[in-house]
Amino acid sequence: MARIGGWMLSKLKFVSNGIHFRVLMLVIGLAVTLVAAQFVTDTVLETQKVRDQRLVEARSITTVVARSLENQFDYFELSDIEEILKSVRFTEHVTQVSAVDRELTFFLDGDPATPTLLPVGNNAEQIKAIKTGKPDFSITDDAITVAEPLLRDGSAIGAVMIRFENPTFSEVMWPILQSNFFSLVPILSLGIILAGILVKQITSPLLRLSETAEQVADGDLKRTMPIEGPNEIRQLGLAFSGMIGKLKENIEQIYELAYVDRTTQLPNREFFRKELTRAIRRAVRQKVTGGLLFVDLDGFKRVNDTHGHDAGDAILSQFSERLANVLRAEDLIAFKAMNAMETEEGDSDNANKNKQMLARLGGDEFTVLLSEIREPTDAATVSQRIIEAVSEPFDINGAKVNIGASVGIAIFPRDGSDYQTILKSADMAMYQAKEEGKNTYRYFSSELNAEASRRMEIEQDLRIALEENNQLELYYQPKIHCSSALPKSAEALIRWKHPEKGMIPPLDFINIAEDCGLILPLGKWVLEQACKQLKAFEDEGIDISIAVNISTAQFERPDLSDIVIEVLNQTGANPANLELELTESMAMQNPDVALKHINILKKLGVRFAIDDFGTGYSNLSQLSRLPFDVFKIDRSFVDKLTNREDEHGRIIVRTILGMANSLNYETVAEGVETVSQLEFLSEYGCTYAQGYYFARPMPSKEFYQWYTAWNKQDDSVVAALMRQGSAA
Ligand code: C2E
Ligand code: MG
Ligand code: MG
Repeated sequence: MARIGGWMLSKLKFVSNGIHFRVLMLVIGLAVTLVAAQFVTDTVLETQKVRDQRLVEARSITTVVARSLENQFDYFELSDIEEILKSVRFTEHVTQVSAVDRELTFFLDGDPATPTLLPVGNNAEQIKAIKTGKPDFSITDDAITVAEPLLRDGSAIGAVMIRFENPTFSEVMWPILQSNFFSLVPILSLGIILAGILVKQITSPLLRLSETAEQVADGDLKRTMPIEGPNEIRQLGLAFSGMIGKLKENIEQIYELAYVDRTTQLPNREFFRKELTRAIRRAVRQKVTGGLLFVDLDGFKRVNDTHGHDAGDAILSQFSERLANVLRAEDLIAFKAMNAMETEEGDSDNANKNKQMLARLGGDEFTVLLSEIREPTDAATVSQRIIEAVSEPFDINGAKVNIGASVGIAIFPRDGSDYQTILKSADMAMYQAKEEGKNTYRYFSSELNAEASRRMEIEQDLRIALEENNQLELYYQPKIHCSSALPKSAEALIRWKHPEKGMIPPLDFINIAEDCGLILPLGKWVLEQACKQLKAFEDEGIDISIAVNISTAQFERPDLSDIVIEVLNQTGANPANLELELTESMAMQNPDVALKHINILKKLGVRFAIDDFGTGYSNLSQLSRLPFDVFKIDRSFVDKLTNREDEHGRIIVRTILGMANSLNYETVAEGVETVSQLEFLSEYGCTYAQGYYFARPMPSKEFYQWYTAWNKQDDSVVAALMRQGSAA
């Protein structure tokens, strides 16, 4: 209760402190004062009027009484005169009457109870009237006294006095108040309501104005103010909005001076310091990796010395353009002048997630901030592109000038967790790059350098492998239909027989091929080989389909479906025997593109499988929106089936199978290595099993042999293998 009281009190205080309330009170106060003043004036005038009337009335009554008395004054009985006076005495407003004779021998007051001969109550007016023979009167605050002589033959024989009430201010006021009350109250109420509305019209824009001012003061310069209300306030609002605009402009100018490099229009060292500090903090907090590239031009001094400083500036501008283009092409955002300001405002982690920033530290030193990268090697990919972009000659007034770039890479928080350390690490790495021949990149960490050069080597070797066409080969691993025990399909898996390094597993080069773009020719090559094999199977009457793995970079290409159709046409393979394997992240990253490819190819009969299902973050119901045919349960889940104690793993596999079956998807279990895994999978309705238990991936020749042998096997052997009585 006390709390409610307190709340109401504070609310009341808030309202009473509000400008609207106070202005309304002022208006009401003024109105009431005006009405009161008007009322007092009215009453004073009315009082005067009533008194004047009363005087006229008093004089005429007194004259009438005097005239009726004077003729017979001497002949009247005193009691008769008393009677006449009595009749007057009780008329309205009369408070006293009296009549006296000239000698003041009697005094009659209209009250028979009082003695007639007592000369009391004579008053100055009466005596004056006798003496002068003329009427006389006096007015005091509460009485009007009129005396009239009783004349005979021109001289006074006596006098009559009548005293009337003189109306007071308050007497006059009440009737006025009463008569005005009923007209005044509605008018006053209406006036107050109108005043309220009017005041609101004035105070609302004022309130908005002060709100806007507060927000602007808090730094929200994007705030605009709706300009309405009376003319003056509109002017004020306009002036205020103009002021905000000017303020914003000025701040932007200050910002530009403080944070933007004049020559290149890129963020400067100070801005970069803030951004890097923020990116490091975020990386530490969210346990992600970021990269800093320190880029220094090779041979810039020479250009400056031979072509002059203007040429130097032009090179810096062109260079920063090219850098920005590289970053843009990488789907990164290069920050230019004003963009910088917007990013300064929110510190939202998500907004910063993919933020890349290009800045000029001074001279020919630039930095590229990669706020978040998947792995340290991503920084090398960007560095390599920057070096390539710089390798094209620059144009100085028609002359071609060659310069290069050395890039030092620091990875945070790995190489340091503050601005100074990271910048120094990248700087040192850049010097190393310069020392080791320029026009190259180096990591600060020696391990990363080793990793980078390994990747570079693989990239170069893979290029050769693709050209020479004798190092790469497709292996095939069968998928066995669980209920018929027939090998209905085979997955094509790439193998690279490196002339020096020996067999390189796909996981060691596929992602490098993705990073450097080689995946496109590689992927096409795989598709061609697989389709040729498919055609060969078909020609030989072998009823088997082939599954080909598609990588993200391939899948994101808008021409993937065209390429697949082209290869199918060239090889003459039956599309219905081709299956494409995608991972769930690929499908979910860009479901629209995925759907487009899938729809086009499915019309031809190509089937789609989700590979490594369960390792991504999506779930079956999300994926089921895309028309897939097959789900391949990841090997890690099948692994869990080995341990009979691991009830959790078994439940997961059972659930996936149950859901897939109910949604009418086929399922493939990957990495089946034991009969107990196979049994469990078959029992819960898995469609196909793939794994070392049946066969490892094999070159096509070996695959033929395996296939023939499998089909020749005695049913009982197959049944024993499958441990399913009805299998064969
Ligand atoms: P994936 O598509 O999930 O292929 C299955 C991987 O599991 C293959 O490894 C296969 O050899 C292996 N595997 C099959 N059965 C068993 C088993 O019983 N136990 C164990 N431990 N492993 C088994 P591989 O050939 O090394 O390929 C690895 C990954 O490389 C593939 O995973 C696929 O994502 C990628 N890959 C392979 N070939 C290609 C290709 O031609 N193009 C693309 N884009 N990616 C490919
Ligand atoms: Mg696969
Ligand atoms: Mg897989």
